[in-house]
Amino acid sequence: MDRFSQGLADPQETHVVGECLSCGGEVYEGEEVWEVEGEYLHDGYDCIRGYIADFATQKVAG
Ligand SMILES: [Zn+2]
Repeated sequence: MDRFSQGLADPQETHVVGECLSCGGEVYEGEEVWEVEGEYLHDGYDCIRGYIADFATQKVAG
């Protein structure tokens, strides 16, 4: 009886579903991400900030 052997996914077999628009790193199935026009962005400060820097200008408000 080995009915449990096919239950849980092997953590080694994470499925890559795309790559991050900002850092270019792999995005895995089940990972929390931002979707931008059908593409992925990691849910992390550096990736979001890096992405925004493509079209926004950082400045001092005033
Ligand atoms: Zn990223």
